[in-house]
Amino acid sequence: MKTTPEIDCLMEFLSIRPDSSLPVLQRFAQLDGSCPVFKRGKRSFVYIPGTREDRVVLVAHADTFWDWYYLSRSDGPDTRLMKHEPYLDGDVVLQMGDEEWGLGADDRAGCAMLWLLKDSGHSLLITDGEEHGQRAAHYIRTDCPDIYRELNRHRYMIQLDRRGASDYKTYRIPVTGEFRRYVEEHTGYADAGYTSRTDIVRLCMDVAGVNLSIGYYNEHTPAEILRVNEWLHTYETVRKLLEQPQPPFPLPVPNLLYTTDLLEQLEKERTREEPPEDAD
Ligand SMILES: [Zn+2]
Repeated sequence: MKTTPEIDCLMEFLSIRPDSSLPVLQRFAQLDGSCPVFKRGKRSFVYIPGTREDRVVLVAHADTFWDWYYLSRSDGPDTRLMKHEPYLDGDVVLQMGDEEWGLGADDRAGCAMLWLLKDSGHSLLITDGEEHGQRAAHYIRTDCPDIYRELNRHRYMIQLDRRGASDYKTYRIPVTGEFRRYVEEHTGYADAGYTSRTDIVRLCMDVAGVNLSIGYYNEHTPAEILRVNEWLHTYETVRKLLEQPQPPFPLPVPNLLYTTDLLEQLEKERTREEPPEDAD
């Protein structure tokens, strides 16, 4: 496959070891205007406000399933001496290093897309802790009211963190039919249903949000791959969409449907054994 600056950027992000989110967060933290918040317990995030009046929030997560924070608590493999070697074969990226872990395209492929869109005038939000309880997103919702309100003053949110080639998901966020039609018309992607969750489920209180396919498969397994042409297709689709004027998509009712689920999750988090966290 002929390389391009977009593919170079993708491979660069996939080359970052998947056992720490810090190198990704630090990279975004260096951008002009960035508001980085580094917190223990996988609650870090980097928010970079956009400049356009009609801006959208673009969301991706820096942590992967193979983060040492998670593995060290579940008797997972010791990653410290493990090799991570992404390799491009045709239009497929594979991981040819240690067999005990995968590529980390979930969600480094989404982070690479945000990097390519950093000068689009839209806002960027790179989270940590998505894989276990959307921890940064939850922290923003409960402890960073100014940022939470600001995010919900955007036109809507796009998360780039979905398996496959052409799905979209709005989960249980109470989005309008108009928003679904807008997404379908501009992407040609199909609704993949309501199950599971990701950061936008916690972040969207007053505005709509959608998660789009970015071409990864078999995530959370060592057989994880990324299809570069599918990733490029979503990148080009989103890039072109975001060049156009963006209409607002407020939610008809606030996104409180998640509350019951949230309480269950909080109870689980509260009873889980965790090292003491630093105080503010
Ligand atoms: Zn993900």
